[in-house]
Amino acid sequence: IIPPISLSTTFKLAPSGKADSPYYYTEAGNPTRTALEENLAALENAGHCRIFPSGMAAIFSITMLVKSGEHILADEDIYADTISLIKKILQPTHGIEITFTEFTDIYAVKKSLKENTKLVFFESPTNPTLKVIDVEEVTKTVKNFNRDICVVVDNTFISPYFQRPLSFDVDMVIHSCTKYINGHADVLMGAVMTNCEKLDQHLYQMQKCTGSVPSAFDCYLVMRGTKTLHVRMRTHMENAIAVAKFLETCNQIEKVLYPLLESHPQHQIHMKQARGMSGMISFYIKDDEDGSATKMFLNNLQLIQNATSLGAAESLIVRCDMKYEEFSPPLRKGVANNLVRLSVGLEEKEDIIEDLKQALDSITDASGNLESKSGDNHSDFELINSTKGD
Ligand SMILES: *Cc1c(COP(=O)(O)O)cnc(C)c1O
Repeated sequence: IIPPISLSTTFKLAPSGKADSPYYYTEAGNPTRTALEENLAALENAGHCRIFPSGMAAIFSITMLVKSGEHILADEDIYADTISLIKKILQPTHGIEITFTEFTDIYAVKKSLKENTKLVFFESPTNPTLKVIDVEEVTKTVKNFNRDICVVVDNTFISPYFQRPLSFDVDMVIHSCTKYINGHADVLMGAVMTNCEKLDQHLYQMQKCTGSVPSAFDCYLVMRGTKTLHVRMRTHMENAIAVAKFLETCNQIEKVLYPLLESHPQHQIHMKQARGMSGMISFYIKDDEDGSATKMFLNNLQLIQNATSLGAAESLIVRCDMKYEEFSPPLRKGVANNLVRLSVGLEEKEDIIEDLKQALDSITDASGNLESKSGDNHSDFELINSTKGD
């Protein structure tokens, strides 16, 4: 029932002296890795999956499809290290052209496609401003321009349980399995899923020739994580809906970004292409320019940990401008020092909300500027909750 952890780096050859199975040296193939790759391919309803030692290693392997002089088109709001990979390595040392543009604007996408465009890369929902991009519309637009351009979606923020971009003609989906797929904040891993045999062969060569493969033990842990993916995702969503609704009632909050809220600018697009949402919520705190209220709020949280990463059982929160200081506007549109990103964990939702409430109240108590309405709001929230009946 449980595939064994195959630690051997080498496998006995056939009497002919040749390999008669995919397993002869562990960079080329390992049974535990194959078991996980088949599992993850099934989760994205994909023909193939290749796994890598991290999400970044997976993204790097994809970008190695692009040759010097070719062009990558990417959304403005993508994972900070993906921007670093493009701007600090691919552009200066590999001579690859890059354009960042606003993918919620389909005309901006159209205008930015070029004769030498090879790869189009975006996330939905995006990190950290939780924009939703119309996967089908963007893919159609790109494919109409040139069928050979490779469209890649980073699906990390939502998980395959809620969204499967390959069904919209996307060429490759990537995941940082470090996040929701493993779900326990104890493994670093990346995955690429595709229906294209040729792309899969490229990824296989990247695994084999650059030694970019995870250990069998890590494969075992992630396989274990996938068994509870659906249960975890449902609870992350249920908790996040309660938290987002609560935050919307708080006087100390300027704006809440969560794709399942009707107030979200691309709510309808999200509902069209996804069947739920993870525990990722971003919100702006009403603050002065120095960001002191936001810092105080983070320091006063007790249950929710001030730590980066996401998709863990524990609720994690970070200030979003930390990672982006090096990128000047307009690239980091909407990333201000009062924007925080919360990965709602699997704790009891009442406990998460209570912690947020006491930390928000600490801001109000410290400054006379904000009138406190949060007492009333809390009772509103209890009303929402009590009608649920469980
Ligand atoms: C974390 C993350 C990555 C990078 O994955 P690692 O496993 O940390 O290398 C890429 N994309 C997104 C959206 C992420 O959240």
